[in-house]
Amino acid sequence: MRFISGVQPSGTITLGNYIGAIRNFVLLQDDPKFTDFLVFVADMHAITVPQNKEELRKNIKSLVAIYLACGLDPKKVHIFIQSEVPAHAMLGWILQCNGYIGELERMTQYKDKSQRHQTDGVSVGLLTYPSLMAADILLYDTDLVPVGQDQKQHLELTRTLAERFNNKYGETFVVPDAYISKAGAKIMSLCDPTKKMSKSDPNPKGYISLLDDINVIKKKIKSAITDLDTKVKYDKENKPGISNLLTIMSCCTNKSIEELEEIYKDSNYATFKEDVANAVVSVIEPIQKKYYELINSKYLDEVLDEGKDYANYLANKKIAKVINKVGLGRKTK
Ligand code: ATP
Ligand code: MG
Repeated sequence: MRFISGVQPSGTITLGNYIGAIRNFVLLQDDPKFTDFLVFVADMHAITVPQNKEELRKNIKSLVAIYLACGLDPKKVHIFIQSEVPAHAMLGWILQCNGYIGELERMTQYKDKSQRHQTDGVSVGLLTYPSLMAADILLYDTDLVPVGQDQKQHLELTRTLAERFNNKYGETFVVPDAYISKAGAKIMSLCDPTKKMSKSDPNPKGYISLLDDINVIKKKIKSAITDLDTKVKYDKENKPGISNLLTIMSCCTNKSIEELEEIYKDSNYATFKEDVANAVVSVIEPIQKKYYELINSKYLDEVLDEGKDYANYLANKKIAKVINKVGLGRKTK
């Protein structure tokens, strides 16, 4: 079975991305069920909202170093940059032509992000983003796609597009299932625990970046918005801030929420937050150490060159079939 997933270089990777995505990739790379493992940098997705050119380049490279620093092993994983595999754009276009505007307008991410970009303009790409994401997946015939809860809706659309294409043109794509890990599927913003933590949040206090200074990380957790009650208890409805911190701590310590509630039943919020901060730092500090060893090494390019060749090899085989089925260009055998 083949595995594929990616992260956008739209900022610096957050604790949410790590817990909801990258950490799972690292665990799954050793799962024998996956005979082929691909992880990419979704740079074409990142430009659905305005990006500064230099920042984008920096973030692309940084994301690759973060993948490796978090433990992705290039001996097991092909790491590549989405824009270096043109078949993604090609299939994205074909799928766009088989999707409906109404389907895309219903997507929560589109609604949220278009709201945020009212003043600088909402790009067409922001609306059609899910068809490119569908292409990222369908090009590689993957059965199982690990996504955070926030991407579940996009994966459902991917399934719809795959089924529609298969019905119209004959069996072409594998219809993929979502793989959502139970714990920490969605880490919330530290400033507004009803919103998800996002690396593109204009307010950096809402997220913990994996490259934040250790003292900044501690400060952000200590000033995370919580309720006026004093009990450390998981209650998503009434205590979303504390519940989010419990989830974060559970993910960073491998202790269950129940265990943590028991440990902190007589503690105040300050003590609890102090421990959450230390738990997060103990996860992030070693990643940072490896990251700074890697960021300026030639090794990153070697990894990306291999990944690019391999992904192009797979994607080009698939896109050739799709082109034939749709009737584009000249018929090939
Ligand atoms: P952006 O704000 O630019 O959309 P993002 O933080 O949402 O950035 P993505 O690149 O869109 O990150 O998503 C990368 C991966 O991280 C996806 O698998 C997504 O499901 C996961 N993810 C994103 N945010 C969270 C979160 N808050 N909690 C858990 N997983 C998350
Ligand atoms: Mg996102």
